[in-house]
Order: sequence, then C-alpha cells, then structure tokens
Amino acid sequence: MPDLTPAQLARRLRPLLAGALVALDFDGTLAPLVADPQASRPLPGTAALLARLAERGARVAVVTGRDAATAVRLSGLAGVPGLVVAGLYGAELWRAGELTGAAAPAPIATLRARLPATVAADPALWIEDKGLSLVVHARRAADPDGALAVVEPAVTQLAAALGLEVHHGRAVLEVRLPGYDKARALRRLLEQADEPASAVLYAGDDVGDLPAFDLVRRLRAGGLPAWGVCAASAEAPDVAAAADLAVDGPAGVQDLLRRLTATGT
Ligand SMILES: [Mg+2]
Repeated sequence: MPDLTPAQLARRLRPLLAGALVALDFDGTLAPLVADPQASRPLPGTAALLARLAERGARVAVVTGRDAATAVRLSGLAGVPGLVVAGLYGAELWRAGELTGAAAPAPIATLRARLPATVAADPALWIEDKGLSLVVHARRAADPDGALAVVEPAVTQLAAALGLEVHHGRAVLEVRLPGYDKARALRRLLEQADEPASAVLYAGDDVGDLPAFDLVRRLRAGGLPAWGVCAASAEAPDVAAAADLAVDGPAGVQDLLRRLTATGT
C-alpha cells in the first residue's frame, strides 16, 4: 500500500518541477465522476493550478480515453500554457489547438453497428462513442455491476470476433483496439517532448490507469524520479494499492497540485 504523504511527494518533486511531466487523467481525477459524461467538468480552480505548474516549468498533460477534442472542450483547459492532451489512450495528441491522430479502423465501424443490439434489452445501459473505442455505461442502472454482468458475455463475444479488447472501468465496459492503454499514452507524451523529462507524476483513478502506474514503476527502476498518484474512490479500491500515493478523489489531487506550486515546505 502507498505510504507516501502528499507533503512528502510535493517536497521531493518541487525541486524537479522544471522539465517534469505532470500527466493527469481527466474523469475521476481532475473531474468528479457524473452520470452524464458530457456534464463532466474539472473542479473549480483546476485551470489556474495547472497554469501555475506550467509557469514553474512543468509540462502539463491530460491523459484520457476520450477523444482529445472532447476532453479539451469539457475540461476548459485549452489556455494552460503548453498543455498537451493525449486522447484515445494516446492515439491522438492535442497541442496548442492542433490535433494529430489516427482514423478509426474497420473493426470499430463494425462494432459501432453491432454493439447496440447487445445492450438493447436494458434501457438503463447506453453507449458512448469515443471514436476509437465504444463504452457501455451503466451508471444509470440501479445495480451497475449487475447490469454489466448480464451483457458482458455478448459484448465479449462480439469484441473477440472483431479482434478487439474489453476493459472494465467504474460502471463501464469499454471495447477498444488492442494495445491502446494509458501506459502507451504516457510513453507517447514522454517521447514527443524535445527534452527528456526531469521527473514524472501520473495521476489516475481507475483500473484503466493501472498500466500507467506500472510504467511509472519501470521508469523509476530505470532511474527517473517518477510517482503514481491514485485519486482514490470506493468504486475502485484496488487502484490505490498500485499507486505510490493515494489521495481522496479529485479534491485530493487538487490539494497535491496546490502543494506542488506552493513556495516553502
Ligand atoms: Mg479516470
């Protein structure tokens, strides 16, 4: 289990902040989870905090499974200096208003046509189209886990037939291309920068962030100061165990960022 405190992490990272990559998941990490993903917004004050980090030389990035344009629009963070948004698990990069990325391959188009039939029996379930992945949402169901368990065999069968992967998240099942995850996104952020990072901070809240926490551990084993922070929630209790520091949801992340930008000890 994590034994680091926010104050300790802030003390260690602050001297390395110039040139550090501060990579933050969006939903559940910067923004509290809400029933309608289109209503997701970061906690008030987030943009100003991230701008202060950028002023201190940190490279600030948002890492999300959403498409980058949607993440930029919902987050309201486009004005953060130097911000990079790694969307669709790193398949897209948004930087200073410019988007580079990939078009969806054929299996996703087939999935788009066939997935609705697998969840149609339960009106509480609905599908979010993220471009390179589709997400079955159950947060509107009385029993989200139970509702997902009913449709999971059919979703898994369809995904397998198309060569796609099914991933679990907080009240969601996501079907996506194999090989796309938050570790790939984080690695892409490290590789696209002009200079090697002086340190890495990655924060996330869900099982989808576990590959990034794993990459953080490997970076640290290779000698780079790197930390994984979990925005902990009762919905995903195992995620905290994989991080170096667990804080209380988006408010705890914001507290940590505030400590990073504070002067003194
Ligand atoms: Mg999240």
